[in-house]
Amino acid sequence: MSAARDAALARIAASARAAGRKAADVTLTAVSKQQPDQRIAAMLATGQHVFGENRVREAQVRWAERALPVELRLIGPLQSNKTAEACALFDVIETLDRPKLARALAEHRDRHGGPLPRLLVQVNTGEEPQKVGVIPAEVDGFLRELRDSHALSVEGLMCIPPVEEEPAMHFALLARIAERNGLSVLSMGMSGDFETAVRFGATHVRLGSALFGERPRPRERPRTPS
Ligand SMILES: *Cc1c(COP(=O)(O)O)cnc(C)c1O
Repeated sequence: MSAARDAALARIAASARAAGRKAADVTLTAVSKQQPDQRIAAMLATGQHVFGENRVREAQVRWAERALPVELRLIGPLQSNKTAEACALFDVIETLDRPKLARALAEHRDRHGGPLPRLLVQVNTGEEPQKVGVIPAEVDGFLRELRDSHALSVEGLMCIPPVEEEPAMHFALLARIAERNGLSVLSMGMSGDFETAVRFGATHVRLGSALFGERPRPRERPRTPS
């Protein structure tokens, strides 16, 4: 486990240096979703302390009673009725993508006081109809609405490029949108494309299989005889 992490960190550092950036400006998020507990324990033992999860419930089971100082990042879609649970558990929500969720977050803050998790807006750079995320042309307006109507401040953007397309153009697009809005955090790049993402300015790369090995496949249902 620590060899895989060392290798990933070395590749991040090399890509950063090649792009004239500092390795320390890129944070490795270990995506622990669906991974067995012993692999996560081994990852924690390497000193890794930033983890990404894509489901609130699964993350609660795994991390609610965490003893170690861990930064937890929600990288999957958030239903507005799970806002309170997500705010209690996560340090960062990377998937703010619609007005309804913004309202739920602002109401939660107003009711409970105290800081919300840090927020990133998820951008659907490929404008894929089946995917969540704000389409590029609407990001500036959405950011204004977050600020002016909900007093929510956002620290950056996140994207998941379409699987079948060259990711570089999506990373470049995300970086441009962040730049013109004065945002400094860019969560982009997964196991298959993180070096490209670092070249285009990623501050956070989200690695699952490159660190942990393949996720165990969900248990198959027993076949019903035909
Ligand atoms: C699962 C997931 C990842 C990690 O994917 P790998 O290809 O295993 O690195 C990264 N980001 C998001 C949003 C994910 O859901």
